[in-house]
Amino acid sequence: MRIGVYGGTFNPPHLGHITAARAVFELLKLDKLLLIPDSQPPHKPLPKGSPTAHQRLELTRLAGEQLGLEEKVETLDIELRRGGRSYTADTLAAVRELYPDDELWLLMGTDMFLTLHTWREPERIMALAGIAAFGRSETDTEELFAVQRELLYRMCPTARIFTLTVPGVVDVSSTDLRDSLAKGGGSYYLAPAVYGAILRDKLYGTDADLKALPLEKLRPVALSFLKHKRIPHVLGAEQEAIRLALRYGADVGRARVAALLHDCTKKLEMDEQTALCRRYGIQLDELEQHALKLLHAKTGAAIARDIFGVDDEIYTAIFWHTTGHANMTLLEKVMYLADYIEPTRSFPGVDELRAACNEDLDKGLRMGLEMTIQEMHDRGNPVHSATLEADEYLKGN
Ligand code: ATP
Repeated sequence: MRIGVYGGTFNPPHLGHITAARAVFELLKLDKLLLIPDSQPPHKPLPKGSPTAHQRLELTRLAGEQLGLEEKVETLDIELRRGGRSYTADTLAAVRELYPDDELWLLMGTDMFLTLHTWREPERIMALAGIAAFGRSETDTEELFAVQRELLYRMCPTARIFTLTVPGVVDVSSTDLRDSLAKGGGSYYLAPAVYGAILRDKLYGTDADLKALPLEKLRPVALSFLKHKRIPHVLGAEQEAIRLALRYGADVGRARVAALLHDCTKKLEMDEQTALCRRYGIQLDELEQHALKLLHAKTGAAIARDIFGVDDEIYTAIFWHTTGHANMTLLEKVMYLADYIEPTRSFPGVDELRAACNEDLDKGLRMGLEMTIQEMHDRGNPVHSATLEADEYLKGN
């Protein structure tokens, strides 16, 4: 395999890092990319008030996910675990142990490339990995690379050096970005989920009131809770919720908030879900105790209320979005169906369900409930009593 190793302080990781990483990944035809946040950069101290190592790791992991490379990108904590000053030669040696037979390439921007000869053990670095250097701004041109390339080849004649210009280079530094964030800006240079995590955890001097977030801030915060692959679904649910709310006279703002937060605990495992149920006093019936899929609606509603201060209408719309229940409110129906038919859904019958939802909300709801009941029967799974009651209620029994 050809593996890229991209280290940095990533304080925070921004679109400059992501754009460069994507360009190198494609140009060098990498099979894998390792993002490695450093513990203590050797050349500069971490600024006061920086996030904890764990938080930087989490931001880097989120930023890496936005590359859309799935399991081809991994964020490693090897420098954070090693602690102390992070020397690249030691890190590459550790990566070499993990991947003894693979080809390594060390990714770095111009600033790092131009000082590489002054790092600790540059010859060892160049023996362990090829160097992939890229410009950080439009002005970082080939002439700038040429002198340094020659110097490094003289120092290490067997070195492999690849310099490139990143298409659409994003000229930003973490230092400038931290300043902008503290002044209420900065979102432009960050992947939305990374910006959301910064707001959520009040990093870099941000101080958003999570209980009164406008939609444009709630959206990135909501995305920061999700696995990357679920982002299109949640954004799709928001769009569908707007459409259904307008069509049937529900509160559009509330529908959007419910849709953005409806899956906010979806990625949690069973033990985390049950811990939240205990914390929020959520009673589980026999079926729910074993069905992970049924818990996220309840824990998601609890988090939405506790952290984001949603009102009762939004709370119940999230709470019932998976099972439905008898005599649902208008917002509950909108949320249930937005989740079911949002534009990225594709399952047999979805177009018929969409047509029914357009014709009449209760007709769509009944069709959705019956499709779920049928699917559960087909799979040999028990159907939740609330779903059966919702169906009976609509039939008028
Ligand atoms: P600082 O402002 O503290 O210098 P930084 O933005 O340079 O921060 P680091 O995390 O220290 O961020 O950089 C990690 C790596 O990413 C380095 O190799 C750096 O050259 C590269 N890099 C940083 N910003 C960009 C950018 N905008 N475009 C391309 N590469 C970048």
